[in-house]
Amino acid sequence: MRKRLVAGNWKMNKTYDEAVALVSEVVNMVKDEVTGQTEVVLCTPSIYLTALKQYLPVGGRISLGAQNCHEKASGAYTGEVSAPMLQSIGVRYVILGHSERRQYFNETNAQLAERVDAALANGLTPIFCCGESLDMRENGDYLGFVKEQLTESLFHLSAEQFASVVIAYEPIWAIGTGLTASSQQAQDMHRELRQHLAGKYGDEAAQNTTILYGGSANAQNAAELFAQPDVDGGLIGGASLKSRDFTTVVKANN
Ligand code: PEP
Repeated sequence: MRKRLVAGNWKMNKTYDEAVALVSEVVNMVKDEVTGQTEVVLCTPSIYLTALKQYLPVGGRISLGAQNCHEKASGAYTGEVSAPMLQSIGVRYVILGHSERRQYFNETNAQLAERVDAALANGLTPIFCCGESLDMRENGDYLGFVKEQLTESLFHLSAEQFASVVIAYEPIWAIGTGLTASSQQAQDMHRELRQHLAGKYGDEAAQNTTILYGGSANAQNAAELFAQPDVDGGLIGGASLKSRDFTTVVKANN
C-alpha cells in the first residue's frame, strides 16, 4: 500500500522563535493523528533544521524536510545547501523542482535530474514537484508538459531508486493564488500521471507511488481533494504556516 503524506512547505517564512513555536504547536496538535500509512513532513527553511529536530516526537512519523538541495556534494557554490549536508543532520525529505525555484532560479528538468540523484544517493526522499502554468492549462498541451517534467527528471532512475520518490502535482496557477484545482481536475491529472509512471515502471510501481496535490489546499478543501482515489495527500504552502489549519489538513488525510 502506498503511503499517505502531508508535507508543509514553509517557503521563506518565520523567524527562529516563530519557527520553534509553530513546530511545537503542530507536533502537539498532530502527533495523535499520524497513524497507519500516514506521515507528516515539515519543510522549514534549512537554517532551522538542526535546531528543530529536538521538537519532533520519536518514531519518525513527523519529520523535517528541506526545500531544495544542490546537485553537487560540496564546493564553491556560495549560498547553496548540499544533499550530504542535509543527510548529516538527519533530514529525510527534500522538495525538488518547486515551481518557484524553476521560475526564480531557472532550475531545469536536466538539473533537477541531477538533484534527484544527489538526494537519493544521500538517503533523502525527494518530493518532486511538477505542474503547468495557467497559460499552458488554457492554451497548451499541459498534460504533455507535465509528463515531460517527469520523464526528463525521473525516468533515468532505476525501479529501485524510483520507489523512493514522492511526486507532488502542483498546478502553478493554483499555488498561493487561492485558486484550487477542483477535486476532479486533481484526480484526472493524478490518474494520468500515474499511468505515465506505469508506462515506464509498471503498474505495481505506479500504484505504489505517492502523488501529492499542491496548490491552495487548505482546511476547507483538503478533505474533498484527499478523498480522490489517486490523491495521496498534499504539499501545503500557506496553510502550513498556521498550526490549526495545518492540523485540519493532516486530519483530512486519514
Ligand atoms: C506550495 O508552495 O507548494 C503550495 C502548494 O503553496 P500554497 O498551498 O500556498 O498554494
